Amino acid sequence: MNNFTYRRADNVAGAIQEIALDGTAQLIAGGTNLLDLMKENIARPSRLIDITRLPLHKIEDTADGGLRIGALVTNTNVAYNEQVEKRYPLLARAILAGASPQLRNMATTGGNLLQRTRCYYFYDTALPCNKREPGTGCPAIAGFNRIHAILGASEHCIAVHPSDMCVALAALEATVRVTGKNGERAIPFASFHRLPGDTPQLDNNLQADEIITAIELPAQGFAENYAYLKVRDRQSYAFALVSVAVALAIEGTQIKEARLALGGVAHKPWRNSEAEANLRGQPLTAANFQKVAAAIMHEAQGFGHNTFKIELAQRAIVRALTQATAGTPQAQEQSL
Ligand SMILES: Cc1cc2nc3c(=O)[nH]c(=O)nc-3n(C[C@H](O)[C@H](O)[C@H](O)COP(=O)(O)OP(=O)(O)OC[C@H]3O[C@@H](n4cnc5c(N)ncnc54)[C@H](O)[C@@H]3O)c2cc1C
Ligand code: SF4
Repeated sequence: MNNFTYRRADNVAGAIQEIALDGTAQLIAGGTNLLDLMKENIARPSRLIDITRLPLHKIEDTADGGLRIGALVTNTNVAYNEQVEKRYPLLARAILAGASPQLRNMATTGGNLLQRTRCYYFYDTALPCNKREPGTGCPAIAGFNRIHAILGASEHCIAVHPSDMCVALAALEATVRVTGKNGERAIPFASFHRLPGDTPQLDNNLQADEIITAIELPAQGFAENYAYLKVRDRQSYAFALVSVAVALAIEGTQIKEARLALGGVAHKPWRNSEAEANLRGQPLTAANFQKVAAAIMHEAQGFGHNTFKIELAQRAIVRALTQATAGTPQAQEQSL
């Protein structure tokens, strides 16, 4: 492990100044991902800037009827917040499907967005990896790729984004609020994370001198008809092989609006707006659910060990849509 200095930032402007000073400085929040990366010698910051004392710990209503979640609110405090449970239960469900209670007590909202892939090769510094060292190659493509992407991958990287929370945020169409040297900006959730393309080293569109200050949820929370289904190797404490966040607005027996985001299948939470739009105005039938699942998986490509995910994802989509329709979502992973 490299030597590093440690400083605690007192305010957002101070934290921005500190990271802008030095390209190898890194912010630390809950530390549940960064410290592991440092121990494995994958992250080698020369300076750590502790942001845990910044005033970003609140959950507040927004003027347009939504909810603003400070970047330092822990995953636990988001999931058990009364307003989140009542108005955005999909988000609460997704968070509680992730990690363990101890990790969720430390992990923060901002840190969750920026957690790095769980690709085995990325964590093994004895092997090449384009994400760790651009231009060295991607051993996962011809290697053991059971947990890897089936959608949106590139010849340079087939890693997936591991977050559960982000899958729900994608379906809810949240906005990421960030502040940097050039002021504040709002990034729609769909534009926050990136596909690997030929820059697999970049996971997202946050600039090096920017800090996430909050996530904003729009007023519509889909609290009546939602589901978060996570399929994984163990019932707890495991990352998703495939996960599905569904948010439905239903009118009578028809779908007024459908949002569907997938986790564990791509370098970012996966949405297919065209396929979702085709559900609008349609009756809530298994045949329609199967049709949308097939459309979403139309361009999916397996790499051998992970090809099973294509069928698995289709089944998970149909099940999650069925659960959301019933209005009594259950996190049942069995019998897919
Ligand atoms: C064993 C294990 C199991 C896990 N299982 C799951 C799971 O099933 N599902 C799941 O979703 N997650 C899981 N996680 C991941 C966990 O949720 C993340 O590690 C956590 O959310 C990261 O948050 P943090 O505050 O600890 O981030 P940190 O480790 O402190 O930081 C992560 C990155 O974010 C940056 N950062 C942090 N906050 C900000 C900010 N406000 N602005 C800009 N940059 C910032 C840091 O510089 C760093 O690069 C697991 C983790 C472990 C260790
Ligand atoms: S999939 Fe991406 S992270 Fe994994 S080895 Fe290939 S380049 Fe590295």
